[in-house]
Amino acid sequence: MKLICLGSSSHGNCYILKASNEVLIIECGLPMIEVKKALKFDISNIAGCIVSHQHRDHSKYLPEFLKCGIRVLALEDVFNSFPTLKNRVFCKNIEPMHGYKVGGFKVYALPVVHDVPCLGFVIEHSEMGKLLFITDTMMLEYRIAGLSHIMLEANYSDELLEDAISNGRTLSSTRERLLESHMEIKTTEQILLSSDLKAVNEVVLLHLSGRHADAEQFRTRIAKAVGKPVYVANSGIEINVSKLPY
Ligand SMILES: [Zn+2]
Ligand SMILES: [Zn+2]
Repeated sequence: MKLICLGSSSHGNCYILKASNEVLIIECGLPMIEVKKALKFDISNIAGCIVSHQHRDHSKYLPEFLKCGIRVLALEDVFNSFPTLKNRVFCKNIEPMHGYKVGGFKVYALPVVHDVPCLGFVIEHSEMGKLLFITDTMMLEYRIAGLSHIMLEANYSDELLEDAISNGRTLSSTRERLLESHMEIKTTEQILLSSDLKAVNEVVLLHLSGRHADAEQFRTRIAKAVGKPVYVANSGIEINVSKLPY
């Protein structure tokens, strides 16, 4: 099983989980052509696409994905946020605290805390084990046992945010919005340190802010804290997320 990160920021989020004979897409915030290129134009075995919430950096290309015949699973308000969406044949409404089958992938939706309704996901597959995907949330109430892989938001650090505010690059009103909607690096660290990491192969940091994050600093900080390989989900990065990678 391979994880391909096509984008992980406010400019567009999209990830591909590629098993030996099927594919799950997480988020449709980048054009379908990017997905096609990453899959060498073979999109016949895409089992579906799961979408966390309606913000356009996660959902902008939903109509295009549907036109390609991809089944999209999302909260009803994500579909409703596209008023021109007439044909809902490939739309599947999902709800927090419910589980869904998408091909051989089992997806469980968790509620998270953002400024619009938003889901995190626990995704299971026989080739991968259990993967936690959490983005666009100020915190996470749940701790999931037996995880093999963790993809977790690390949006900003208080220090870099305060620097940007004090030298006028960021409006001070941004502070309040971020506090209630995105994950600060200490929260990311605390969640990991209070989780059962025994079977975790690696941690992938998501949705880093362009102005209020430092990728290398965040990566080394989290790697030191958890003692596992840590990656930043830069565009184009591919990570082996097989159950037993070595
Ligand atoms: Zn976002
Ligand atoms: Zn968002």
